[in-house]
Parts: sequence; structure tokens; C-alpha cells
Amino acid sequence: MMVDNIPILSHVHDGLTIEGYSRAAVQTCWRVNELKLLFDVGVQPWDFMGTPTMFISHAHLDHIAALPAYVSRRRMMKMDPPVIYLPDSAVDMAWKMLQTFRSLDRGAMPCELVGLLDGDETKIGREYVVKSMNVHHTIDALGFIVYQRRHKLKPEYLDLPGEKIRDLKMAGTEITTEQRVPVFAYTGDTSPKGLDNNPEFYESKILISELTFAAPEHRRSKIHKHGHMHVDDYRERADNFKNELIIGSHASTRYTDVQIRRFVKKALPGMLDDRLKLWI
Ligand SMILES: [Zn+2]
Ligand SMILES: [Zn+2]
Repeated sequence: MMVDNIPILSHVHDGLTIEGYSRAAVQTCWRVNELKLLFDVGVQPWDFMGTPTMFISHAHLDHIAALPAYVSRRRMMKMDPPVIYLPDSAVDMAWKMLQTFRSLDRGAMPCELVGLLDGDETKIGREYVVKSMNVHHTIDALGFIVYQRRHKLKPEYLDLPGEKIRDLKMAGTEITTEQRVPVFAYTGDTSPKGLDNNPEFYESKILISELTFAAPEHRRSKIHKHGHMHVDDYRERADNFKNELIIGSHASTRYTDVQIRRFVKKALPGMLDDRLKLWI
């Protein structure tokens, strides 16, 4: 049964459906159905539970609070235990939290928690690999890039007829090279350093980034100290973004939707060549 328990937004780009909700201090959650991946679990939309793999950027409540609900609902619905990737330093406490809920709720919490460090690569099926990268926040936090692995015929074999290629393949010759295409990236919460230290973010087809602050009077030094970004940080980096789509998310609750749109439009009148989409 469909249950509409969260006001999620949805946007399709180049065959990937981005769904989610994201406001600072409220809750953040994302699903990319075609990749069969979830990112963050500040809240758990009922319909997201069918996705068995989750990456958690960091352990702030607005990104992790609904982890017990996700694990427990999958068990109740007789789904396989999910695999949940999260910053290595958060694994033990997250496990303890689940065990505490187990005592309170008297329900098992079957899942696998896997710790991630900067630079780790996680294979998702045959086609995708997720790379984890340290970003810059007030606690350990990771951003993620999903690469699609494409196998291209090596140039020296391009002109060979099909049967020759088949013979080479049968003889065990390595006839292809792997190309990695960054199709999706998510920074989680970060100051601009998270982007600048990991320029791969700028190359991904789709980038979900955080744009927590937008009012001109909000001091950027303070915003950066708290591990967040301001729209002026985007303006200064406008030339860096090679992405086809940039989703500005995690807006502060200090602003109404109308105010956010107005502030961002003022700082970036071209909305980064109309590639910037505000997730409000
Ligand atoms: Zn947050
Ligand atoms: Zn945070």
C-alpha cells in the first residue's frame, strides 16, 4: 500500500529519478530509484523502504534519525536486511542506537552497517561504484559520487571484425577498458571546502549539494565554521560547475520558499545557466 507520509519532491534528469525532502534541522532523505540507492534517513518515506541499500552522509539527527524506522519497517514487511553505509566513526554508536530501540520496541533490527573512510569505493551491482569522500562539516561527514562503469573496446581492436573480437575474447584477451562516468553525486552537509577539496563533484552529471543559507546579511565566516554554504559560495565558483543539473538543497528554515528563491535569483540571476534547481 502507498502511504504518503512525507512531502517529497521529484525530478527526472537523463534517466535518473531524484526524489527527496531536504531542509536543514528538519530532515533530509533522497532516493534514486534507477540506481536502487537511498541517501540519508532523517525521515523515512514509507515508499522508500523497498530500496535495500543506503548511504548516510553523517550522523546529525536531520540525516539519521529515522534509521530505526527504516530497518524495522523492512523487517516487518519481510524484506531482506538492508545494507547501510555510513562514516566509520559513527558505526558503533549507530549500532548501539539500533540495539537500544530493539530493547524499547522488542523488535529485531536486522541490518548490516558498513563503515566508510575517505576514498573508499563500494561496488553496487556490476554497473555502478560509489566513491566516498571526506567533506567539511562539524562532525565526520562524507559525500558520495556514483560512477557508472562502461566497458569500451580498446582502440587497437576497433577495426577488427566481430568474429576476430569473439576469438580474442574466447582466448582470454582483455579487449575492453573500463570507463567511469560520474552520473550522480551528493555532498551531504559541508562548507565550500568539501567541494574544493573534491573537484570530482563538479564533474558529475547530477550534483545534489547543500545551499543552506542565502540571505545577504548572513555572515559567511560563521556559516563556514558551522560546515555549511551560502549562495555567494556558489556565485564565486560558478565557473567550476560542469554539472548538467545542480540541486541546491538543505535550505535553512529561517527562510520562506519565496525568500530563498528571491535571494538566490538575486545572487545568481542566470541560475548557473539554468542548471541550478532549488529543492523547495
Ligand atoms: Zn543537515
Ligand atoms: Zn549536519
